[in-house]
Amino acid sequence: MALRTIVKDGDPILKKVCRPVTKFDDRLATLLDDMQDTLVDADGLGLAGPQVGMMRRIFICLDDRDLPEEVPANYEYKFIEFINPEILASDGDQVYQEGCLSVPGIYADVTRANRITVRYLERDGQPRELDTDGLLAVCIQHEMDHLDGKLFVDYLSPLKREMVRKKLAKQRRHAA
Ligand code: ZN
Repeated sequence: MALRTIVKDGDPILKKVCRPVTKFDDRLATLLDDMQDTLVDADGLGLAGPQVGMMRRIFICLDDRDLPEEVPANYEYKFIEFINPEILASDGDQVYQEGCLSVPGIYADVTRANRITVRYLERDGQPRELDTDGLLAVCIQHEMDHLDGKLFVDYLSPLKREMVRKKLAKQRRHAA
């Protein structure tokens, strides 16, 4: 198990567009394993390549579809790995209060599609298609944005964004 450092808001890496994955090798498998460890350790729902400094079109999301009502302490969470993902169709909308491991302590309502169909590759290069809604659909859309250098706070009004900016600056001062 290896944890990777999570890149925080303010780092220019988070504003860059990622390139597709072309090699489906051991390095990719190790990266995905590390991303999973890092996500569990940080107690998040999703994690994208650029958040651990890898500028590739890759992310993982917690699969919440079979989660028990009460999650036992030793529960083995399941994750879906998305490589070179593409949203083929989207329908309806939903509002969810989002957060992001790269923007700690900030939560805000974002409107996204309710239902999406996404095509992606698995770690061995096999193509897959997934049709889903609810939280998993939110997670996928949030992580897709990371691959194009976009953060959820970019959807906020200028006034709210300014409030977020001030809060983050204050956090950084306290952390220093
Ligand atoms: Zn995020």
